[in-house]
Amino acid sequence: STGSDDNDVVVIGGGPGGYVAAIKAAQLGLKTTCVEKRGALGGTCLNVGCIPSKALLHSSHMYHEAKHAFAGHGVKISGLEVDLPAMLAQKDKAVSNLTRGIEGLFKKNKVSYVKGSGKFVSPTEVAVDTLEGGTATIKGKNIIIATGSDVKSLPGITIDEKKIVSSTGALALTEIPKKLVVIGAGYIGLEMGSVWGRLGSEVTVVEFAPDIVPSMDAEVRKLFQRTLEKQKMKFMLKTKVVGVDTSGEGVKLMVEPAAGGEQTTLEADVVLVSAGRVPYTAGLGLEAIGVQTDKAGRITVDHRFATSVPGVFAIGDVIPGPMLAHKAEEDGVACVEFIAGKEGHVDYDMVPGVVYTHPEVAYVGKTEDQVKASGIEYRVGKFPFLANSRAKAIDDAEGVVKILAEKESDKILGVHIMSPNAGELIHEAVLALQYGASSEDIARTCHAHPTMSEAVKEAAMATYDKPIHI
Ligand code: FAD
Repeated sequence: STGSDDNDVVVIGGGPGGYVAAIKAAQLGLKTTCVEKRGALGGTCLNVGCIPSKALLHSSHMYHEAKHAFAGHGVKISGLEVDLPAMLAQKDKAVSNLTRGIEGLFKKNKVSYVKGSGKFVSPTEVAVDTLEGGTATIKGKNIIIATGSDVKSLPGITIDEKKIVSSTGALALTEIPKKLVVIGAGYIGLEMGSVWGRLGSEVTVVEFAPDIVPSMDAEVRKLFQRTLEKQKMKFMLKTKVVGVDTSGEGVKLMVEPAAGGEQTTLEADVVLVSAGRVPYTAGLGLEAIGVQTDKAGRITVDHRFATSVPGVFAIGDVIPGPMLAHKAEEDGVACVEFIAGKEGHVDYDMVPGVVYTHPEVAYVGKTEDQVKASGIEYRVGKFPFLANSRAKAIDDAEGVVKILAEKESDKILGVHIMSPNAGELIHEAVLALQYGASSEDIARTCHAHPTMSEAVKEAAMATYDKPIHI
């Protein structure tokens, strides 16, 4: 259906920020229309981000385990091979099922869905070029900008999505590259590097900064990098890309030390550019109504997600804060609660971060360096998965739990986990942090045996007392 004139809320963008805001608004009794130009709901996350990457991470992990781990568990196979088209098809099926699922949720909650590209005409009117070819003007008392982010390009490097790909192309390679060079050691580069590395690519990660994943606790990061190196991922840190040549069969990438020095050439079949993402506001007409942005192009908002223009709000990747799907969703709910005259709240210090490699790394709260810098006296509790019975039982015991707690009060300040399924384990820590719990609170909470979660309990014990199993 096309949107009508009497909307309470119009949401531009149907990603995790926008579609969640639209559903929540409708649930709160607000008449809501969502405009999305992609032709499918779910945004970057569902179409070309979180979901397809996790599908391929899982499939490639299965292959890798079959090749390297099954025999050790007494499961013998022969004739193992990768059927890449089938692997990509399973990913695509997961995406399209979930996309249709959101359309179903829109219907169920009576959210109007307009397929097309939206642009501000006034603070209460959005002109839409519909995908069908027409135009429509949609009015709303409140308008939420949820247009998300786009790949950050690097000067002099043209992404063709064949030889030089963004994450989008890296999710759809039709052949396993012999050599893959990844530019940027953030979580996206490491996840996509892991996928193709497991399937057989020789992976080299080039990073300008001295460290991989800068938001990670330094000690866990070191461990993590060593783990990835054991998986044969190569790292060239403090290295900058200075040129690219695609004239031959593959790609030649010219690199040199970040501080200057001798240039070397890396050969690759495919180069993945994953050096960050930038807010996406192209063609939105922000200037026409005077919505302010910061130097990085992000829309500036107050604690209510209100922009500089009354009645216009913004959420998700297009505003400052962690560029993560679950943060965008929280933004969406809180923003709509404010619009509905209620209170909303998102604490960006409690947004967990997860890198979905194997093992995974998950964290919430402060890193040790941040705690040190804050001047708070603190204690560290650590527990290795090598001493966790479940991890040993399944022979998947690489990793650690590290808990930082305030010395005086034992209040938890940060939790960092590297382990299989760390992205699931982290949530007891998120909850603990959210409720201002102490590490003793976690330690005195009964944890089922044998589970990986027991490592969290033991690390908590180690913070103020002694663990049992090490
Ligand atoms: P988006 O998801 O970017 O959605 C914005 C939507 O707005 C888009 O669909 C776009 O088409 C639409 N749009 C833009 N302009 C207009 C317009 N003028 N009119 C109409 N529609 C418009 N995050 C995680 O939390 N976990 C992960 O595991 C994870 N993995 C990722 C893997 C990859 C490869 C990538 C690229 C990202 C990943 N992310 C992950 C990040 C996550 O995708 C984003 O943080 C999230 O999608 C942001 O949500 P959003 O709603 O703000 O914006």
